[in-house]
Amino acid sequence: MSSKSPLLEVEDLKVHFPVYGGILARKPIGAVQAVDGVSFQLEAGKTLGLVGESGCGKSTTGLAVLRMLAVTGGHIRFDGTDITTADSGTMRPFRRRMQMIYQDPFGALDPRMTVADIIAEPMIVHKIGASASDRRGRATELLEMVGLRPDMAGRYVHEFSGGQRQRIGIARALAMQPDLLICDEPVSALDVSIQAQIVNLFRSLQDRFGLGYLFIAHDLAVVRHVSDQIAVMYLGRIVEIASSANLYTNPQHPYTQALLAAVAIPDPDVEATRPHIPVMGEVPGAMNPPSGCRFHPRCPRAVAQCKTESPVLRALSGQQSVACHLV
Ligand code: SF4
Repeated sequence: MSSKSPLLEVEDLKVHFPVYGGILARKPIGAVQAVDGVSFQLEAGKTLGLVGESGCGKSTTGLAVLRMLAVTGGHIRFDGTDITTADSGTMRPFRRRMQMIYQDPFGALDPRMTVADIIAEPMIVHKIGASASDRRGRATELLEMVGLRPDMAGRYVHEFSGGQRQRIGIARALAMQPDLLICDEPVSALDVSIQAQIVNLFRSLQDRFGLGYLFIAHDLAVVRHVSDQIAVMYLGRIVEIASSANLYTNPQHPYTQALLAAVAIPDPDVEATRPHIPVMGEVPGAMNPPSGCRFHPRCPRAVAQCKTESPVLRALSGQQSVACHLV
């Protein structure tokens, strides 16, 4: 790994999906701007939380970083190498180093295979481990690392709870000795008590292996205890990016303030006195996003300028950047 480059650098990333129409001949009639000019950096061993409502483009960003979706514009650099248009041969070593953790591990794990085989399978593909017994030994070690017993290696996925399945998914990803995990809503399908256990597991694995995480979630409560930096997305764009401490204590963008207001605070005195900012209506479609600031139809502070001029993401300090005309 290069000592100078960030682990991951995303610059002005655009992912647009063409939309076709017409009765006799299919013609392009527009594009869904799922991601539209997203930039961020992630250092090795750190976590960037990517937060926003459903449809804001956060999962699309994760899939584009993994090159599982075609990129419309911008750049993705991994450990200093521009992989935006890399062919499959060039991508091969990077694919091993970047692994995905899914919301629903059950869908990603083959129910006909034992847990040991599920974990060993990517090792075979990427030629990790000299023999079947090496790989089996490694699978057992990985099960222990994620908090499961070695004797569970011969069982099948349906014999495990949701939290245990997520642990198996993490063990399978770790089998590749990755540098970056893209975690797409990895705890949102789990009970709250289990969520905390899995978040703690992510933190301890990061400490142990120096993993970088792009941690995607739809609410700010989940990413709070795992993120060094948080980017808030709205309709394909980052509206605020800040250190975790700044974002929770001093949110500047009206949308961030509204998302934070929706997070319950366990102190009743704080809960009773803090401002609750309403956000009106639903997220508009990304095919015809609102003019100017995309948040203006829902923003309680919108002024005339917001309807016509798109705010740029502006640095308030080294720790915080915001896209809003009033900040
Ligand atoms: Fe609200 Fe205007 Fe700021 Fe957008 S630019 S967040 S509409 S105040």
